[in-house]
Amino acid sequence: MAYKITDSCISCGACAANCPVECIKAGDEKYEINPDLCVSCGTCANICPVGAPEEE
Ligand code: SF4
Ligand code: SF4
Repeated sequence: MAYKITDSCISCGACAANCPVECIKAGDEKYEINPDLCVSCGTCANICPVGAPEEE
């Protein structure tokens, strides 16, 4: 199971800077996770100031 970034993302970039496999990139309206690379470590959810990443 991968994590997914919900619409509450404010595009601060903290998750992308701390993802151990660098699978988070800036999208058009929010940051996005590549589910094929995500190892579900939970770092993005723990570091996000608005709780945008959720486990699918
Ligand atoms: Fe990256 Fe871990 Fe978040 Fe997956 S759960 S996107 S591997 S920080
Ligand atoms: Fe969006 Fe949270 Fe990632 Fe910041 S840390 S870019 S608000 S998902």
